[in-house]
Amino acid sequence: MSITVITRMSDSDEKPYTIGEIFSIGKNYRHPDSALVSYPNAAKNTLGSFPKNKDYKIAIIGAGASGITSLYELSRIARNQNSGKINVTLYESDYNNFIKLKNSISPFSLDVYGKRAGRVFAARSREREEKDHSVYEIGAMRFPEIAGLTWHYASIAFGDDKSVEIFPNPGKVPTEFVFGDRVDRYVYKNGTEYWLDSNSPTKVIKDIIKEGLAGTEKEPNISLYPIGCKDPIKISNELKNKDTTKVRLKEIQQQWKNFVNAYDSITLESAVRRIVKEKVKCLPQIVGVEKEEDKINYYIELFGCFGFGTGGFKSIFNISLIEMMRLILWDYSNEYLLPVEENVQFFSNLYDKACKDNSKFVVNVEYARVCDVCHSGSGDGVKAIVFDYKIKDGKEENCITRGEYDFAILAIPPKQLSAVVSRAGFNNTERNIKFGIMLVITIKQ
Ligand SMILES: Cc1cc2nc3c(=O)[nH]c(=O)nc-3n(C[C@H](O)[C@H](O)[C@H](O)COP(=O)(O)OP(=O)(O)OC[C@H]3O[C@@H](n4cnc5c(N)ncnc54)[C@H](O)[C@@H]3O)c2cc1C
Repeated sequence: MSITVITRMSDSDEKPYTIGEIFSIGKNYRHPDSALVSYPNAAKNTLGSFPKNKDYKIAIIGAGASGITSLYELSRIARNQNSGKINVTLYESDYNNFIKLKNSISPFSLDVYGKRAGRVFAARSREREEKDHSVYEIGAMRFPEIAGLTWHYASIAFGDDKSVEIFPNPGKVPTEFVFGDRVDRYVYKNGTEYWLDSNSPTKVIKDIIKEGLAGTEKEPNISLYPIGCKDPIKISNELKNKDTTKVRLKEIQQQWKNFVNAYDSITLESAVRRIVKEKVKCLPQIVGVEKEEDKINYYIELFGCFGFGTGGFKSIFNISLIEMMRLILWDYSNEYLLPVEENVQFFSNLYDKACKDNSKFVVNVEYARVCDVCHSGSGDGVKAIVFDYKIKDGKEENCITRGEYDFAILAIPPKQLSAVVSRAGFNNTERNIKFGIMLVITIKQ
């Protein structure tokens, strides 16, 4: 089995899109889990304010996408403060994070070549100076148009008029799919699918599973897994539509909860099997596959390898149907590249926007690994305490440093997060913090 995209066969007359155009598509999108909130719209205004016009000390732990966007949002609040500064300490433990150079060499317009912003980073085939060098994004590389919040920040970082290219996902450019002795060639262009063999079993099973899960935009509803009696694809359109009423959005949120309760223990594979079984008579006969049971298994395997044309789902057949339905509602079918050679530039630009001409916003970068974060004090005097090991010349120092802040923002992945907060606990109550077996600190309210 293989999927090969043939990029050189794609048309060069494809219309380029601007960031502004893409942003306008996803800017009203709401997630089914929080259907009343459209995050891109919510982020139009500053995300809040601080209670008093005094100086604030805030720690951000992690200089990846979340840490840098948090920093940017704080900078907007700082610009709106009547008086008082916001002093941010940004903790980052990765020696290759772009932020280290920002602080040590020049604060703005830094060359981020070869640097990282957490899970946004690239590898290169040759040195940049060599003309034919290639850049391979190893982390985040494609951004769906539905991800309105990403495009909101991209429009700040690069400007609305910047052109971006479509991501060459399988099917977006001419693609060849090989399964056993079958070879399919297909491409989706301007909303139409072109197949070398229009009766291909691969195309038929893809369409049948798509309809069985997502349904269609037309009436009647045909999905075997409707959300509140409606085809999921229709719900997806309602979540995107800016005119969907609050009453209807509330209803969708409740229907989605009911859907989660009903189907959380159904795997993607069992949903696919159910659809294939119901539609087995409509599926083209395969030479050498005589028994119905074998035909069902053949088509489940074929769908597992092909998916919806953008890559197979076999490796995630054991996920809950709920996760698959989130992907369907999210509609990630159109994805784009960022207008830069390395995506880390996105966060470098956002950092610059936050700091430039902002006298009420001061950023201090600590190159350190945070090991614990907890609360101390009570009432108005409650503080966020951050413990860290400083890193010098790529090596951690032996002693722990303690920093005291008004707030701490933890912008690190859940696995790393649990190690940082689990010993301290989330509640503002007395607790023991243990560092290995050597040191025990008791914090009282
Ligand atoms: C292979 C891969 C492909 C992906 N592809 C896409 C894609 O195509 N499109 C898309 O939208 N998303 C994609 N993602 C997801 C996307 O990269 C992440 O969701 C996003 O980068 C996460 O950002 P973050 O800031 O939450 O976390 P991270 O990027 O993980 O940033 C956390 C930062 O905190 C630092 N840190 C961690 N612990 C500590 C500590 N104790 N002390 C100090 N600093 C600490 C880390 O060094 C890091 O810099 C992909 C992810 C991966 C891994």
